[in-house]
Amino acid sequence: MKILLAEDDVITRRLLEVQLKNWGHEVVVCSDGAQAWEKLNADESPKLVVLDWMMPGMDGLTLSREIRKMETKPYTYIILLTARSSKEDIIEGLEAGADDYITKPFEPQELRVRIRAATRIVQLQEDLLKALEKFEFQASHDSLTGLWNRYSILSILHRELARGRREMTPVAIIMADVDHFKEINDTYGHLCGDEVLRQTATKFNLSVRPYDAVGRYGGEEFLLVLPSCNTHEALKVAHRLRSSFEDNKINSVEISPHVTLSFGVVTVNSNERKNIDDVINTADEALYKAKNLGRNRVEFGGEIH
Ligand SMILES: [Mg+2]
Repeated sequence: MKILLAEDDVITRRLLEVQLKNWGHEVVVCSDGAQAWEKLNADESPKLVVLDWMMPGMDGLTLSREIRKMETKPYTYIILLTARSSKEDIIEGLEAGADDYITKPFEPQELRVRIRAATRIVQLQEDLLKALEKFEFQASHDSLTGLWNRYSILSILHRELARGRREMTPVAIIMADVDHFKEINDTYGHLCGDEVLRQTATKFNLSVRPYDAVGRYGGEEFLLVLPSCNTHEALKVAHRLRSSFEDNKINSVEISPHVTLSFGVVTVNSNERKNIDDVINTADEALYKAKNLGRNRVEFGGEIH
């Protein structure tokens, strides 16, 4: 594990460095508090720190308080090194934010077990954070396509409509639906159907701007939210998406069904609050108009003022 060691006394510092390295750790060595603070603010800073209490520049106690103010993720585990051993000193150190303390002169064995306990906690924190990130991703994304799920894309739409109102910028919504999807499933099987949805998601993601959001709204229905996008631009995006499917067949594992999509576009350009259901319904109506007029086309549902 990467450990930051801040100790001004050259002999103690060297001794600690050698021991930590012998136990297999990577050691970032600092000779004063200011240097340690700098290292802690750099990218990929160590999450386990051993700080001497008495140091020039910034002492271990001040440093501990500053680290706690940072609220870093994952948590930074602090071991304070001190020649002070009174109960009051220890309480002061722990109250400043240290997790543990070692009194000098220390026994290497004691240091070793305390470092071991600390690495376990830091590792556990990192694992928990990873699990949480994974969980958050799973809760907000569609597992098949990796796009935002219905709940998330509606939250994004809600947020962007509010932002558009505030900043007086238009927001475009594109509702897209794979044509004859049931027939694709019936003819080529559900695995192929799934592949069509995945490839559609990839095409959408490649075609939109980085700040646009693409979500899977329903079975074969997709919802795109395009912030700061006027009608002209939105229609251009929708036509580009439509023709990208017309030009390229989607290659699935065994067969290549010809896939087309229908699109319904609507833009919201208003400084008044609009009902999100009305916005969705207008886009949906435009989409169904595109379906009724023969599919593989874009229909505009109008601008909502
Ligand atoms: Mg010192």
